[in-house]
Amino acid sequence: MKLLVLPGDGIGPEITAATLAVLEAADRRFNLNISCEKRDIGLASLKKEGTTLPAGVLERAREVDGVILGPLDQLRYPPPDKGGLNPSALFRVKLDLYANVRPARSRAGLGRPMDLVIMRECTEGFYPDRNMHEGSGEFSPVPGVALSVRKISAFACERIARRAFELADKRKKLVTAVHKANVFRMTDGLYLETVRNVARDFPGVKLEEEIVDAMAAKLVRHPERYDVVLATNFYADILSDLASELSGSLGLAGSVNAGDTLCAAQAQHGSAPDIAGKDKANPTSLILSLAMLLEWVGEQRKIPTCSEAGKAIDAAVDKVLANRETRTADLGGKLGTGAFGAAVAAAL
Ligand code: NAD
Repeated sequence: MKLLVLPGDGIGPEITAATLAVLEAADRRFNLNISCEKRDIGLASLKKEGTTLPAGVLERAREVDGVILGPLDQLRYPPPDKGGLNPSALFRVKLDLYANVRPARSRAGLGRPMDLVIMRECTEGFYPDRNMHEGSGEFSPVPGVALSVRKISAFACERIARRAFELADKRKKLVTAVHKANVFRMTDGLYLETVRNVARDFPGVKLEEEIVDAMAAKLVRHPERYDVVLATNFYADILSDLASELSGSLGLAGSVNAGDTLCAAQAQHGSAPDIAGKDKANPTSLILSLAMLLEWVGEQRKIPTCSEAGKAIDAAVDKVLANRETRTADLGGKLGTGAFGAAVAAAL
């Protein structure tokens, strides 16, 4: 099995190294025969090659079995014409990794009791770098005025809704569709109508609808009552940080971007420049993202040992987190990034 590894910016190289230590342990235990190919993207490649996404990286991603994508510091990138491309967006759009799957489950007594998965559409919506055929979805018609365009298509809503219902069917059989159709009558209206149509194909799964602002409050009030939370790009991006923090820490939040034939492990959080290079970052989110990637590949390619490896990594993380002494600083523990990765590898 071949994985393309792109460590990214800020804490990316540190959490990627810790994640690869866990991958090596999983490879040894489950005989997965994994080879990793590392490439620089982000600020490292901008310095060397003048672009944050060098030529050939996307093409290589199409050929491998999976991708480990580190966090990116887009805020520090120059404009696109000066080499500042957003690899995260380009991976999602060009490789059609439309489903951003973001679980939030309390682990080892941390955070609030909850176990939900946010299903985020990530190829359109309010993001100016992925909602136009040409040009940007954000523009300024006259000085002092800026406009943002939001794209919602029945096609994209249909397929993300289908993934959400399929997932809920295997879980607690509840989909909460988040929207703001009271104001965005046309765009969120189209989304809701599409979701309701998909729901008819899943009679065993209950569909409920929540307006996004109320959802933020209800998520804090009763996080335990949700199962699969379905939303368009922007709402889901915000709600998933809220959910992961409620479940213990943003540093615990694994996630994958999945298409129909390719999947990329990508932590929910960003490049955390405030703690970069200090061995302080919690690598759990990328380690859990790797676990999700292995489960996805195992299921897609019918490789049971690969799925088992994913589940075993998830269980090893719980085991290490259960001991207060073997947590990272964000959870009040004493371990650095590398030592935490080594502890999960040893537990595995
Ligand atoms: P952030 O997620 O990087 O950090 C928010 C806070 O959480 C910071 O205090 C940080 O130290 C902490 N944190 C994040 N990950 C952590 C971890 N693994 N362990 C311990 N603490 C952790 O968000 P930000 O500071 O708003 O953004 C920084 C940069 O990241 C920006 O350039 C932004 O565009 C980018 N970003 C990238 C992605 C991505 O690549 N997927 C996602 C979000 C933000």
